[in-house]
This record gives sequence, C-alpha cells and structure tokens, in this order.
Amino acid sequence: MMNGNNDIELSRLHWLMQVLQTVDAGLVVVDRQFEIQLWNGFMENHSGIRTSQARSSNIFNLFPDLPEQWLTRKLESVFTLDSRAYSTWEQRPHLFKFKSYRPLTGKSEQMYQNVTIIPLTGTDKSVSHACLLIYDVTDIATSKIELEKANEELARLSRTDRLTGLNNRGHWEERLEQEFRRVKRSKTPSSLVMLDIDHFKQVNDTYGHQAGDEVIRVVAATLIQLQRETDISGRYGGEEFGIILPETNADQAMVMAERLRGSIEQSPVTYEGKQISFTVSLGICEITPEMEEYTQWLENSDQALFSSKRNGRNQTTIYTS
Ligand code: GH3
Ligand code: MG
Ligand code: MG
Repeated sequence: MMNGNNDIELSRLHWLMQVLQTVDAGLVVVDRQFEIQLWNGFMENHSGIRTSQARSSNIFNLFPDLPEQWLTRKLESVFTLDSRAYSTWEQRPHLFKFKSYRPLTGKSEQMYQNVTIIPLTGTDKSVSHACLLIYDVTDIATSKIELEKANEELARLSRTDRLTGLNNRGHWEERLEQEFRRVKRSKTPSSLVMLDIDHFKQVNDTYGHQAGDEVIRVVAATLIQLQRETDISGRYGGEEFGIILPETNADQAMVMAERLRGSIEQSPVTYEGKQISFTVSLGICEITPEMEEYTQWLENSDQALFSSKRNGRNQTTIYTS
C-alpha cells in the first residue's frame, strides 16, 4: 500500500519534470545567490547550454549580456516582497539574447520575450527561490512593429505630393496654419513665399504634358536644394508652390526668393533632348499683427505674386497693404 502511493508520487514527479522539460516557454529557477537550480528544455535549445552546465552556475556569469542591475533589482523585489514581477517586450525587447526561427520568412531573428518572475516558497514558507518564465512573443512583436511601420508609411504618403515628393496642399496648409499660430504667440517674424511658373501652359502646349511634369519636378528639386532645414515647402496647386520661412522677415525672404528665381532662370530643363527655358514669379508676405487668419497671410502673398505677374513676370514682389 505504502509502496503503491510512493510509486504514484514518483510517477507524478516524473511527469511534471517531462512537462517542464518540453513546455514551450523558458523556465529558470534561481536561488538568492542567483545560482541556477532549474533550466528546462526551451532554455537548453535556445541557449545551447546544457542543464548539467547551467545548474549551480551563477546566472550572470553564464550570461554576461544580461542586464545585471535591472534583473538584480527585479529579483530582489520578488524575494523581499513575495510578489511577481513582469517585463514586456515593449519595455525590454528581450532578457536572453536568443534567435527565433520565423517559418513565414524562413529567417531567424532576435527573439522578443515577455518575462514573468514568480517567488517560490520553501517548506518554511519563506521565499528561497525565484522562477523566471520566458515567453517567445516574436510573432506578436514583429507583426505589431510591421503594422506600425505600414501605418507610418501610409501617414507619410497621405502628406506627400506624388509628383514632387513635397508636402501636398492639405498638409502644407496645416503647417501654414500651425506656423501662423506659433508666430502670433512668439512675436518673431515669419514670411511666406508663393511661387508660380510663368506661361506654364505654353510649356505643356509646346513640349507636352510629360515635359511639363518634369519641369514641375525640377522646380520642386531646386526648392528643396535651396531652402533651409527649417523652411517648409509644399505644392499648392498644379504649378504653384508655397514656402514658409520661419524666423525670416520680408527682406530676408526676398534674398531667398531671388536666389530661387535666378537659379531657375539660369538652368533650363532638358527633356528628351530638348532644352526648356522657363521662369517663375514670386510673391512675399511677412506676418503682421493685424492679420487674424492664416488665410489672410496666404491671400496677401498671392496678391504680391499677382503683382509680379502683372508687372511682367520673372520677378519677386513684397506685399504692401
Ligand atoms: P501664368 O504665367 O499667368 O502663370 O500662366 P500659366 O500658363 O502658367 O498659368 P495657368 O495657371 O493659366 O496655367 C497653368 C497650367 O498648368 C494649366 C494646367 O493645364 C497646367 N497644369 C496643372 N497641373 C499640372 C501638372 O501636374 N502637370 C502638367 N504638366 N501641367 C499641369
Ligand atoms: Mg503659371
Ligand atoms: Mg498657376
């Protein structure tokens, strides 16, 4: 009778060990000196370190890559407070630097891990050991990261003009409104330059629509090349562009606008072996205290641009009320 019970208990223990050995999560038991007492099959397989080798080794000696300070603090709190501790892959991508095989891509990459540390009590009810549970969450982590990347790319595309790569009208106008409100608070100068290609219809009519597209692309590229890091340019219409120049008064904006105009005038676009010469007209408006809406800023710049057109094109005008 006694023997029968013992057999069953022994069998149970045996089963339990087989389960621990094969379960698809890392199981590591350490004592208060951080010496490894249990090391399951998952840990063996991913680290290449056998149980016999791991047992009785100090975990930090065996894995010099472990974040010693952080893990020590976590383990100490588990030991002294008799409570669980957690770490998710978002807080810390992994604890153990393991590779994870990806069946979808056939590649292996860094394993993302969630970690739970649980206190283990001895027969005297005091916490003598801690168990680290390591979960492989690479699938969840990579799909979440990829989704975030795709969302970012979509957001970027929704702000970008396809032909030129500049900010599109919608996004550029948002930036214009932001800058207008910022300047209203800070009282620093800020200027807006509107640019329109002269007689662009003729370019289309003479060289074709594709050539026209190329001219628009080149104007955008020149803009990007000549603007400062803090300037914000956008494609406002078909062949009309806007450039916000923060911390810039009208006279300073004039220098930038004239550099742009001169550069475009002097560098014809070559398309299918043909040279296309063209010019641009520009209008500038600096924010003044009387303006109440950003739309007024835009309208004034457009009026200045219109004056440039009326006065013969290929020139820059500063708005005056
Ligand atoms: P102005 O000097 O007064 O600005 O004359 P313009 O011919 O440039 O002015 P207008 O605004 O009348 O003509 C603009 C033309 O630009 C009309 C339109 O067909 C053309 N256009 C608008 N968007 C595009 C585009 O994306 N690609 C091409 N190739 N042409 C475009
Ligand atoms: Mg035009
Ligand atoms: Mg136009």
